[in-house]
Amino acid sequence: MPGSENSTAAWQQIIKVEFLLPGMQEKTMNNKEKEPKTILKNGTEEDQTIDTILRPTSWDDYIGQKNIKRNLKIIIDAAISRGEVSDHLLFYGQAGLGKTTLAKLVAKEMRSSMKITSGPAIEKMGDLAAILSNLESGDILFIDEAHRLNRMVEEVLYPAMESRKLHIIIGKGAGARTISLDIPPFTLVAATTRADLLSEPLRSRFGATFRLDYYNESDIEAIIKRSASILGIEASPEAVKVLAKASRFTPRVANRLLKRTRDYMEVYKEPKVSEKIALKTLEILEIDAIGLEAHDRLILSTIIDKFGGGPVGVNTIAASINEDRGIVENVYEPYLLRLGLIRRTTGGRLVEPLAYTHLGKKPKDRLL
Ligand code: ADP
Repeated sequence: MPGSENSTAAWQQIIKVEFLLPGMQEKTMNNKEKEPKTILKNGTEEDQTIDTILRPTSWDDYIGQKNIKRNLKIIIDAAISRGEVSDHLLFYGQAGLGKTTLAKLVAKEMRSSMKITSGPAIEKMGDLAAILSNLESGDILFIDEAHRLNRMVEEVLYPAMESRKLHIIIGKGAGARTISLDIPPFTLVAATTRADLLSEPLRSRFGATFRLDYYNESDIEAIIKRSASILGIEASPEAVKVLAKASRFTPRVANRLLKRTRDYMEVYKEPKVSEKIALKTLEILEIDAIGLEAHDRLILSTIIDKFGGGPVGVNTIAASINEDRGIVENVYEPYLLRLGLIRRTTGGRLVEPLAYTHLGKKPKDRLL
């Protein structure tokens, strides 16, 4: 008969033991997506350091996303005035839009310390149990890539989020016991690029969900100017405009482009980032004026040249360019959609007239 007990000491012992429930490893979701190999998605270590240096540390420095900032401030102020922790928060949106930065700002505002982990790093229930049992009152637990949490781990999270309890079943069959322990008040802040992959039970347990959208061009220009001044780079207004247009409306991309421009400027002993240098940098990186990389252009030209401009299914596109369906759908397409270069229809993806103009192709090139 499963029993229940309440003992932190016992619990501390148990989490030190590598325990696995039957079938747990087998049930670990194998949903690791291949990461796209482009300069703008996969940063070098130095890029990551730059991310850290340039990360805003105050609400004023966090440019754009005004509604999100306003709503978050209300949630935080209310929690502080009640002397409680904030509701659990979910941030979703494309990579590089500022989810981690927001989480850090929330922690700072709440004067909380933040423990950071990610979905794929928590492989077993024991891993999460160890993390939760080490939380201190008021802590923020940040889980990045939350859509990659396996389902068994999620089951541990539900009671922890809802009633600050940790329920673990130890052993199997008739000897199985449930251990239930209290966790101090904490706030879970989860970030994901794929809210659609989060299970409904998990999604419904967040007190507030925020969708980060692409930034507008003037916000990206402001981000580039701020980053340039932190890095001590002088950039002309024209250069800032060129870089902003090519930044996929994404702060991380903007910062990386600026960094590449600085490299170029240093190598060629230029005193400042001029429009010419910005354009030259984009040319070297094979990024065009509207931020399309080789892969984006390949997707568009494949739909035009091989499938008469569409409509064509995303699986077919992915197979044609030897790429993962998930990457095509979730990394490349959102930006192409945002620019109005493609359209999603029930019959598949359709290239818009703008794409023909941009690639210098004529609709009559379409196959019939
Ligand atoms: P995500 O977690 O969504 O992938 P990050 O929060 O790590 O994105 O942001 C990537 C980088 O972009 C940060 O290091 C920061 O320099 C910059 N950044 C993101 N959002 C903003 C913003 N709103 N204002 C200024 N810089 C930003």
